[in-house]
Amino acid sequence: MKKIPKNTWKRAMVIMAHPDDPEFFCGGTIALLAQQGITVTYLLLTNGNKGSNDPHLSDAALCAIRRREQEAAARKLGVQEIIFLDHNDGELENSVEIRREVVRIIRQVQPQLVIANDPSVIFYVPSGYINHADHRVAGYIAIDAVFPAAGNPHFFPELLREGLEPHAVQEIWLARSNQSDLEIDISAVNELRLQALLEHRSQIGEPEEFLARMRKRQEKEAGPPLETFKRLVMR
Ligand SMILES: [Zn+2]
Repeated sequence: MKKIPKNTWKRAMVIMAHPDDPEFFCGGTIALLAQQGITVTYLLLTNGNKGSNDPHLSDAALCAIRRREQEAAARKLGVQEIIFLDHNDGELENSVEIRREVVRIIRQVQPQLVIANDPSVIFYVPSGYINHADHRVAGYIAIDAVFPAAGNPHFFPELLREGLEPHAVQEIWLARSNQSDLEIDISAVNELRLQALLEHRSQIGEPEEFLARMRKRQEKEAGPPLETFKRLVMR
């Protein structure tokens, strides 16, 4: 099968740490959701202000570049809206304050599906690549905000006073989990995903080399290009 599971969803939200995370972790799936008519919103928790080794580039300049790149990449995939929370890159903490911010936005947007990172992934199997701490913390924040906080009126009663009623998300998909049980064939949007990744010019180095590397990696794997998730269904 390897298709988006049958659904009646109207809205999906991708909650991740950095500008470029959505495209790297699951850009193909995002494009497929958008093509099904599902409104996709990004909620990015940091401003990506450490995503450069250039000591002469100011934080403000880097944030502005990354914001523009993220907007261009998301536009390519058909994403409707991006919300930047602007926390510092590398300093994410799963605090009550940030959970309140995320719950507020979940209740405003009312997504049926949330896509996030798997917080249990410290390193990937079999590559042994270390998963950035912000990705792990962002995964905890997203899961804890969805369940039980977003759907429970006793969490953050001040949000009720803002007119934000509890909202129950139906599913969370954890991208590139080491315990994946959902594979999505992204063949139809693979080129689109690569083009979206190319928009992150400050992050990918020389574009032609980057593309060649990505294509080589895909060729090494047998079968169609896939994006994988651990699917959590709330009932
Ligand atoms: Zn990242």
